[in-house]
Amino acid sequence: MRSLRLQAVLVLTVLIATAATAQTVDKNLQNGLAAISPNEAYDIVKTLARPEYAGRLTGHPGYTAAAQWAGKKLAAWGLKPISGQAGYLQPYASPYTVIDKAEMTILLPDGPPDPAKAPVYKEMKLAPEKDFLPLLYSDSGDRTGEAVFAGWGISAPEIGYDDYAGVEVKGKFVICFRGTPEPDAKYQHYDEHRTRMRTALDRGALGIVYIYADIASNPNGDFLPGFTPAMISEKVMDAVLKEANATAADLKKSLLTWKRPMSFPLRAKIRLAVQSRHFPQAVGYNVVGYIEGSDPKLRRECVVIGGHFDHCGAHMGLLFPGADDNASGSATSMEAGKAFASLARKPKRSIVIALFGGEEMGLQGSTWFVDHVPEPFDKVAGMLNFDMTGEGDGLWGAVSAEPAEFRKALEEADKSVEVLRGLGVISGVGVRGSDFAPFFLKGIPAASLGSNGPHLAYHQTGDTIYRINPDIMADAAKLAFLAAYAWADR
Ligand SMILES: [Zn+2]
Repeated sequence: MRSLRLQAVLVLTVLIATAATAQTVDKNLQNGLAAISPNEAYDIVKTLARPEYAGRLTGHPGYTAAAQWAGKKLAAWGLKPISGQAGYLQPYASPYTVIDKAEMTILLPDGPPDPAKAPVYKEMKLAPEKDFLPLLYSDSGDRTGEAVFAGWGISAPEIGYDDYAGVEVKGKFVICFRGTPEPDAKYQHYDEHRTRMRTALDRGALGIVYIYADIASNPNGDFLPGFTPAMISEKVMDAVLKEANATAADLKKSLLTWKRPMSFPLRAKIRLAVQSRHFPQAVGYNVVGYIEGSDPKLRRECVVIGGHFDHCGAHMGLLFPGADDNASGSATSMEAGKAFASLARKPKRSIVIALFGGEEMGLQGSTWFVDHVPEPFDKVAGMLNFDMTGEGDGLWGAVSAEPAEFRKALEEADKSVEVLRGLGVISGVGVRGSDFAPFFLKGIPAASLGSNGPHLAYHQTGDTIYRINPDIMADAAKLAFLAAYAWADR
């Protein structure tokens, strides 16, 4: 009896504690929250992942059709277009490449080297997506060449590191990992795909062949005439390294342990045949709509809620639907926009919903946006970025350390939504950042949010609607709505 009563008291205490921490949300905000629908977010992802949008490769007609569809949706909800002329689409130059066909074969030496005899090779034919993919900006070409292992593919003698020292790569394929000898900012420039590709091309290489644990489609780079870059799996590299009695994991471990170059020619050869089409004159678009702030002066400042709209496209008969990456974050941002549009009382500052192009190509749309903030606004007061909100258990994020009130706005909002599983601090921006980065670099308070995964089919054909959890996307939209409202209504 006594223990039962004690239990009842404990339960009551817990209930009171919960009620005390939960945010009281006023009627106006409650109406906004009610406009956010998990089912609708799911339908948006389902639509964007459809084959007719061809994996939303920026510049491609499939992307543009999807962008027009999203613009119409924002219009129907009552968001204002960013420009009288272009409506909801903010254009910028966006060359792109489509790979129509690719074949890759590794020629493995049969038997030990024998100076008296011409080498004999066994052919290992690689399967697309399972074993290899061309990088999605490869030129056409059909070449067979020797292969050279070149560590991280970095040539930076000015800072005392050169994977190319002592090896000849002219007319050969460079095989390397992606990464750096150590996590030091001095390597950042050299860790960009574009730098690595140029470095190899300048030395006369036929292409770079990256070694990746899992094959992942990648359009982040420039089309370079005569250059055919690709990616192979660690498993394929293990077969190549058999001649040296090593594995890809061994090589990587040694590079990270000794932090010095360890490059050597391989006996295996590579044949890579690619048929691609490059479109240098293409145009990409950010999809941008806004809700005007209620304060006549402060409305010229805006709080941006956004995420990238693009993905990797469709190549070689493979569709990369990008449901989680990042139709989900687009749906989250759009739903938050709908909530703002439905409000009777708008916040003082304006709210911008921005779906960026070209993130997969290297943050191109968001970079364009911060350099060309649309006319109605003088200033961006803050940015909430959502990249992959479809898979996992709740959200994980990071936020600018300054000002502390910006972080507070997110934490307070989460007291009502309870979707955040962790919130770190954005201390810097590396080459693997998402669209918050160009804002952060301009000193704008920024947050980077995404579901905590695992994102199991990252940049693969398996990133489909079947992986998507509507409630994470909707709760992320609620968090965005409440936090952005608080920040915009100061
Ligand atoms: Zn993404």
